[in-house]
Amino acid sequence: MQNLLGLSPSDLAAFFAGLGEKPFRAAQALRWMHRFGVDDFSAMTDMAKSLREKMKTHAIIASPALLADRLSDDGTRKFLFDAGAGNAVEAVFIPEAERGTLCVSTQAGCTLNCAFCATGKQGFNRNLAASEIVGQLWQANRALGHDPRGERVISNVVLMGMGEPLANLENVVAALRIMLDDNAYGLSRRRVTVSTSGIVPAMDALREACPVALAVSLHAPGDSLRDQLVPINRKYPLAELMAACRRYLADAPRDFITFEYVLLDGVNDHDADARALIALTRRIPCKFNIIPFNPFPGAPYRRSPRERTRRFAEILMRAGIVTTMRKTRGDDIDAACGQLAGQVRDRTRRTVERPTARNLMVEMA
Ligand code: SAH
Ligand code: SF4
Repeated sequence: MQNLLGLSPSDLAAFFAGLGEKPFRAAQALRWMHRFGVDDFSAMTDMAKSLREKMKTHAIIASPALLADRLSDDGTRKFLFDAGAGNAVEAVFIPEAERGTLCVSTQAGCTLNCAFCATGKQGFNRNLAASEIVGQLWQANRALGHDPRGERVISNVVLMGMGEPLANLENVVAALRIMLDDNAYGLSRRRVTVSTSGIVPAMDALREACPVALAVSLHAPGDSLRDQLVPINRKYPLAELMAACRRYLADAPRDFITFEYVLLDGVNDHDADARALIALTRRIPCKFNIIPFNPFPGAPYRRSPRERTRRFAEILMRAGIVTTMRKTRGDDIDAACGQLAGQVRDRTRRTVERPTARNLMVEMA
């Protein structure tokens, strides 16, 4: 059985061709599934009954099962999804005045094992299928619906939840193509952001396959520290990463890269680190997003004090770099991308442990 939910527009056209149908059927199916949130072939009333019956025998429309849906006092909403075999992944909705952002996961766990990341500490379970990646958006759209003006509440998507999107490129690209398609979600490339720890060849591949806005997790101004914090740096050191950022910008939908930087007390938060960052990124149009570290049990780091954070950001801003600071939101519902799911693996207990909440992306341009 083919799951139609995760088929890119071209793969969906191929599916209909296989049934002896014209390509415009793909546009119809995309509208039913993604624009109207339908998962029942019987509801596709602009298709002949015989075709609907044929589709039923060859295909399904399936999204990941929702395990939990929690609303925070500040409007942040967390969705927890079943990823099978006792695993769960999550998506977080962050409302703001001008936009509503959904942060989605791309893998259950992560192989890259960054020193400060709870997802990395959980180890790797598997890549999410395209239907599971876009299925988080499908489910969240169903839950959140439209605003009073008839616009969808979710206006932006960031692939910044659990996992490394560029380590699951094929499924991520299929999901992105659905997000961008006018018959489906119709999101502009600027409103969809992929966050990567810096898998250089996959950055080039994303640029070729489906360029969207790019955020790069930098976290250190030099190779020796970044080797420790973001181990993938040993394979793709900063000089290569910066060159890849420049290549990405050549035909990207945004004219800047967003550098994410988690501030770790006494580790990467010195004035000299900020100055070294300015030098490192001198030739790259960029913005910085400073992220307060969110501790988790056993984490070997502390969050930088508020004053240090402010000073660090100020040094960047004085150099003319647009710098935003992430706020923490949704702590009352453990609403942080990527860190709750690993704790619900033992679902027989039916409890969710206290937050190891990471800060939510709320300041992203
Ligand atoms: N794998 C991708 C996307 C998911 S992680 C990446 O690494 O970019 C999303 C962001 O959260 C990254 O910038 C990551 O470095 C950051 N992050 C991970 N653990 C964190 C923690 N404990 N506190 C704050 N930010 C964290
Ligand atoms: Fe993976 Fe990103 Fe966490 Fe690093 S920060 S372990 S790449 S999810």
